[in-house]
Amino acid sequence: MAILTKGPRGTQDVLPSQSYKWQYLEHKVMEIAGLYGFREIRVPTFEHTELFNRSVGDTTDVVQKEMYTFEDKGGRSITLRPEGTAGTLRSAIEHGLLGDALPVKAAYLLSAFRYEKPQAGRLREFHQFGVEMLGSSAAASDAEVISMVFHLFQALGIQAKLELNSIGCPTCRANYQKALYEHFAARREELCDTCKDRLERNPMRLLDCKSPICQQIGQGAPVMLDFLCEECTAHFAQVKARLEAMGIAYEINPKIVRGLDYYTKTVFEFVSDKIGAQSTICAGGRYDGLIQQLGGPALPGVGFAMGLERILMTMEASGSPFPAQPECMVYLGSMGDAAGAKAAQLVEQLRQEGFWAECDTVGRSVKAQMKYANKLGARFSAILGDSELESGTADLKKMDDGSVTQIRLDAGPDEPGSLVQAVYASRLDEVAGALAGPGETADSKNANR
Ligand SMILES: [Zn+2]
Ligand SMILES: [Zn+2]
Repeated sequence: MAILTKGPRGTQDVLPSQSYKWQYLEHKVMEIAGLYGFREIRVPTFEHTELFNRSVGDTTDVVQKEMYTFEDKGGRSITLRPEGTAGTLRSAIEHGLLGDALPVKAAYLLSAFRYEKPQAGRLREFHQFGVEMLGSSAAASDAEVISMVFHLFQALGIQAKLELNSIGCPTCRANYQKALYEHFAARREELCDTCKDRLERNPMRLLDCKSPICQQIGQGAPVMLDFLCEECTAHFAQVKARLEAMGIAYEINPKIVRGLDYYTKTVFEFVSDKIGAQSTICAGGRYDGLIQQLGGPALPGVGFAMGLERILMTMEASGSPFPAQPECMVYLGSMGDAAGAKAAQLVEQLRQEGFWAECDTVGRSVKAQMKYANKLGARFSAILGDSELESGTADLKKMDDGSVTQIRLDAGPDEPGSLVQAVYASRLDEVAGALAGPGETADSKNANR
């Protein structure tokens, strides 16, 4: 039975009481992406496995080991996307977006899947926001993508440090790889088993290793920035100059590397200490070889991705402002069938005006209805029974202070004394109160949480 009532390991439910935070975040990231000309692209949840084999790396790459790959009923090898870039590029190539009007700017908001070892904050189904800017090799595009993340974090109330590096191009990287190889090969026997294996194929990956001994050996390793060719040096200088011109502070971190060949030049990360020491909450960079590697034209690209679960955790840990939860404006209780029908009719009028309103849909006693209204946190309530139907009036009670307004049950929504007009009048009072002096608004209450 437990298998029916417990979600698979590494998955997470977003409950109705929490989903407003996700809606806010998803709206905000797309709104800001739009200011930079990035429009949303929606790509399938699964792709041909070959696409990810080509993009996320060779057989030893961690991401590929963690992929959810299966054979479908037609005998094709299919993989649930482990990230958003490959599908986005596949789509841009397939639909000929790269043929004109460059750069192409696309933003995505999607779930991704990796079979990771269960540990805190690592889900097997997780959510990413990212952008891809395709077709420009100029440093201005690197800087624009970075500035968008900067702007977004400001808007979300997240403080993060920008760390920057350049990993050069295939030309200058060859010399670096050689120097790096020599550095690590001198202490080959001390390396962890994974790194002994990596050393021959891709010594840059050793800089990423979390094993203490490999990190210690990596301390004095040569630095890519010392090996950049003329073109890569100039590109990096231009990126930095642009960022400085925009007032965006950065730190150079020569330890940011990417293990895959198609990554080039700029790499960057935004790092926060709100959810553990120095965690990366956004990673991005340039990938000038990838579009071609996926069968498209020889065009450059730059982008980033961020995990939304981590962004939300960072926002909560930072006390970032969230919008107020939606609130139930009116609960209209009733006794008997005729009153129940009247309540349903009035509640419908409120909904037509855009207010959340409720009436009894269970057939409960008035006492139980009011208990439910309290639980919902309804701002107003009224109870309709035979005497209210007879008099054509009812008392609308403001739940927080108990004050009462009489409403006319037969008044149309636009007529004086109707339920709709009473709710509008109370909202006006509130706005007037907020304008008149200091008071607690829903927003400031949430910001201080
Ligand atoms: Zn170079
Ligand atoms: Zn190692």
